[in-house]
Amino acid sequence: MKNKYVKILDLSFIAEDKKTILDLINKRVDNNEKTFVITANAEIAMYARENKDYLELAKTAHYIVADGIGVVKGAKILDEYIPERVPGIELMTDMLEYANNNDKKVYFYGAKPEVIDKMVEVLKVKYSNLNIVGYHHGYHDDSDNSIMNYILNLEPDYVFVAKGCPLQDKWIQKVMKKANKGVFMGVGGSFDVISGHVKRAPEFWRKLNLEWLYRVLSNPQRVGRYIALPKFVLEVMKDRRKS
Ligand code: UDP
Repeated sequence: MKNKYVKILDLSFIAEDKKTILDLINKRVDNNEKTFVITANAEIAMYARENKDYLELAKTAHYIVADGIGVVKGAKILDEYIPERVPGIELMTDMLEYANNNDKKVYFYGAKPEVIDKMVEVLKVKYSNLNIVGYHHGYHDDSDNSIMNYILNLEPDYVFVAKGCPLQDKWIQKVMKKANKGVFMGVGGSFDVISGHVKRAPEFWRKLNLEWLYRVLSNPQRVGRYIALPKFVLEVMKDRRKS
């Protein structure tokens, strides 16, 4: 069956549920097909609209996943349908589960040194068979290719990159040109959460689709990011009128 895609602003989002997306990606891993995954929210969709370079980069991704309730609601405004929000962190942990059960190689790149050290410690306890072939903190200048070349040599099945957008995606695009295999996915602040340095919103907030509000309240410096949300809704409405 053909997968469904929905164009919101300029990005073509895969309009499937988490389980379907996960199966698609894991199948590509089993076939050694290299795969670039972007998990995008309203802020990133706005960023792509305002930055043509980033938009061109995003078009090279195999899957753009709706990691934000804004994107799901945006689809509704356009009379389209995305079944659910698929948080990057959940996609990542589900992939780790698959890697753990199927002897796949995993590499982690990003976050502060103490954060990634702690995350690896936590993951080793949680996934006792996980084959972590390496990891490196994210405070490395990516014009120096040493980490990239090191990772390419290891040929991991999954590479998770936590350096924030657009830094992580720019690096992934560069590596994808040379990689023979592997899933490459930018996961933003996920290492901070898995390591326990940052708390995810409790279930109650998530169920009400208010994870974003919880994040603003627990870290008011982030409020600037959410200014993109009303701009995003206005742009989606403009696109709706045009069509
Ligand atoms: N980061 C990094 N290198 C950098 C800048 C940021 O490794 O040069 C890390 C940072 O420590 C954090 C993550 O990138 O772990 C970005 O998290 P943020 O919450 O800003 O990203 P978002 O989820 O909003 O994309």
